[in-house]
Amino acid sequence: MVKKRKRRKRDRSWRARVLRGEIEDVDMELPREERVLPRGREEERVETWSKLERELKLRESTPEEDIPPREDWLPGVVVRVSKGVHHVDLGDETMLCGVRGSLSAEQSGYTNVVAVGDRVLVSRGAPGHGMIERVLPRRSVLARPDVFNPDLSQVIVANVDQLLIVSSWREPRLWLELIDRYLIAAAEGDMEPLICLNKVDLAADPGEYKERMKIYHDLGYTVLYTSALTGQGIEELREHLADHETAVVGMSGVGKSSLLMAVQPDLKLKVAPVSERSGEGRHTTAQVSLLKLKGGGYVVDTPGIRELGLITVHRPELVLYFPEIAAVAGQCKFNDCTHFHEPGCAVIAAVQDGRIPMSRYRSYCAIYDSLPEYYTE
Ligand code: GDP
Ligand code: ZN
Repeated sequence: MVKKRKRRKRDRSWRARVLRGEIEDVDMELPREERVLPRGREEERVETWSKLERELKLRESTPEEDIPPREDWLPGVVVRVSKGVHHVDLGDETMLCGVRGSLSAEQSGYTNVVAVGDRVLVSRGAPGHGMIERVLPRRSVLARPDVFNPDLSQVIVANVDQLLIVSSWREPRLWLELIDRYLIAAAEGDMEPLICLNKVDLAADPGEYKERMKIYHDLGYTVLYTSALTGQGIEELREHLADHETAVVGMSGVGKSSLLMAVQPDLKLKVAPVSERSGEGRHTTAQVSLLKLKGGGYVVDTPGIRELGLITVHRPELVLYFPEIAAVAGQCKFNDCTHFHEPGCAVIAAVQDGRIPMSRYRSYCAIYDSLPEYYTE
């Protein structure tokens, strides 16, 4: 009797049956009453299914924290992930590693369990091979929204602490708005920004470019002037990179690869294929590698990072990323002043009398326009 009752109570919903493995046909239509999302959209179907898959996996996995790390596990850094193989730098050797199946990404909110830059513990297997047993806590994460799971992010690189923002004086011409954008990305990603103006050999007089970059000195940023061609500033750059994990960003052609090779001539730098450079297509599987520096530390130059959008910045907060604008914004006549055209705008007044640099105000306006509207009423 009891058994019968239980059986009758058994959850017969479509979702429960899928979870029990009673329904396997992936292509079946979702029943109307249980359809979470409007039909007909491939992405949404895939998303629903991957959520189910995650739930199933989560049930199977044993909580990793319960098992203490073993003493013979070796600490290392993941320097490259390629086709499921993780290249782990152990200091004196690079080991090719798989990932222990019980490590699960679900709790972390990221789709990839192990990313480039992760500090890990590995166990030895066949010579040159091993298994990642543990991922140590990350100090920072550069991520982008996952294509299939909007609730999750994909880690591009972990543990980066510096952002090297490279521009060139000429060829291509210095573009301050991009520097301003990357300064925001650095603040968002909790990275220390380093501004590097390259190709200074193309300037007739150092006074020219120093005058243009003065605003960044005044804001307290570190500004390096370099030439990969003449070697100017390379030693200083090398010192700033040593013992740090640095992501390198900047427009194509400004000299990022040349600079890194000037810093360390044996770095093997690959030029990304055009498809990766353009950033088009949803399935960007750009190869990411950490390049190890002799002075300690790593650099990473990846299209994934160059495309870093200002994903979490919303219009009303933008001003906070411009400290010199934020400093006067409180004196605007209207609380919700956008500083575009409002009467009594203290920001516009400060731009007019030169207290706020014109280029920074222009960047503010351009970036504001490019951000999604976000007004909670
Ligand atoms: P990336 O796309 O940012 O990696 O730029 P590359 O390193 O490929 O350099 C692009 C071009 O700029 C190449 O032709 C380099 O030789 C040139 N270049 C790089 N650095 C300098 C520099 O300091 N001065 C000059 N004049 N040319 C440079
Ligand atoms: Zn204002």
